[in-house]
Amino acid sequence: MSQSHQAQIDAFMAQVTAQNPHEPEFIQAVQEVAETVIPFISDHPQYAKHRILERMVEPERTIIFRVPWTNDAGEVQINRGYRVEFNSAIGPYKGGLRFHPTVTLSVLKFLGFEQVFKNSLTTLPMGGGKGGSDFNPKGKSDAEVMRFCQSFMTELARHIGPNTDVPAGDIGVGGREIGYLFGQYKRLRNEFTGVLTGKGRNWGGSLIRPEATGYGTVYFAAEMLATKGQNFEGKSAVISGSGNVAQYAVEKCIQMGAKVLTMSDSKGFIHDSAGIDQEKLAWIMDLKNNRRGRIQEYVNQFPGATFHEGQRPWGIACHAAFPCATQNELNAEEAQALVSNGCIVIAEGANMPSTPEAIEVFNHAKVLFAPGKASNAGGVATSGLEMSQNSLRISWSREEVDERLLNIMKDIHSQCVTYGKDANGHVDYVRGANIAGFVKVADSMIDQGVV
Ligand code: NDP
Repeated sequence: MSQSHQAQIDAFMAQVTAQNPHEPEFIQAVQEVAETVIPFISDHPQYAKHRILERMVEPERTIIFRVPWTNDAGEVQINRGYRVEFNSAIGPYKGGLRFHPTVTLSVLKFLGFEQVFKNSLTTLPMGGGKGGSDFNPKGKSDAEVMRFCQSFMTELARHIGPNTDVPAGDIGVGGREIGYLFGQYKRLRNEFTGVLTGKGRNWGGSLIRPEATGYGTVYFAAEMLATKGQNFEGKSAVISGSGNVAQYAVEKCIQMGAKVLTMSDSKGFIHDSAGIDQEKLAWIMDLKNNRRGRIQEYVNQFPGATFHEGQRPWGIACHAAFPCATQNELNAEEAQALVSNGCIVIAEGANMPSTPEAIEVFNHAKVLFAPGKASNAGGVATSGLEMSQNSLRISWSREEVDERLLNIMKDIHSQCVTYGKDANGHVDYVRGANIAGFVKVADSMIDQGVV
């Protein structure tokens, strides 16, 4: 990178850091975008003139609210609720809700900022937003989760709507929570609309939405492998997480002929050298989704496997790695271990799971690396398809949605190649995704004036 570009990036980041103190995750996400987009802006001065990037790092609106509720013992509990409406240049705000004790404004701003680029890449008309709460659904009864969701939605309902802001799920927000949130919205507004995505099949949900993020991540990785004339047949895969994204990444890997060796949760990872097959995966899905158990229990059911407490799976040799749990879950040392052990493709199912230093290791090794905003965009893309079906009051078949998802992932891949291909043929998917996502939003912002 030239010295003048570096100076521009440093000046921009100094300003962002001063304006957003105590927001490390947000600053990390902006830094990654700034490093690739600022050199591009310097060749396209219209974006500098309209101060597009400066405007894009400021959410259009941030809502923070109290969420009081009563637990089963009759005690009053208080959580904090958020919705960050980041950018609506290309459509209504769209992005998930996260319920997890680690939720802060910084985490939601990083997620909302990334969402703007991701949604742009999907080619669908969706702006970017994100929300959630520091509420921890783990260990709570269904009745407690319902009371929390009802209280959360009582405030959120003022700010969202099918043409304004359409939330979805994320960590800690699955089908159960979306159901309670939707029920309360409907009751308050007295209208049945597609205001949330990830809905149940009987009440406006789309087929393939639960599968979409995990499937899409693996479709994207398959596209990357195809650029090298390779596929998943006979390859091994290491996956972190055991939630929604991880489960369906495992399923698609199995379907494509890969052997999946690991899954994890916040307590550690399981390693099954015989491979997690469809039958074992069905057991895991029941454990996590119905019995709400811990991944550790896998080794009691399948004694050939081992549990590694407090550890992450990146030391296990594999051809492909899919971080599908949470942000900053793969550091430089672990990235080096993956590369040294022969990993050739890494596709992020989670948002920002690789630290900046880990990404540097991948870039240096010239392995195939896809950032989450490109590779995990299948989830929000299918949410966009759910919105279309709701508006049209129709329901597409499983095959139809899956085919659209596959085509969207191929399209995102080719946008990344367009903007990310180096002279030597190597594709920098981070640069490609950032610039491709930026251009559509930036051009729309210019069209719409200073708003
Ligand atoms: P889930 O809540 O279904 O699963 C999250 C998984 O990650 C669980 O296994 C959880 O373990 C683990 N995890 C969460 N926090 C931590 C932590 N701090 N350290 C280690 N493990 C952790 O969430 P999703 O599968 O929906 O989301 C996973 C990731 O994918 C997130 O980054 C999310 O933003 C991203 N994503 C999700 C999309 C979706 O459609 N759901 C769309 C695009 C991105 P435990 O049970 O122990 O907490």
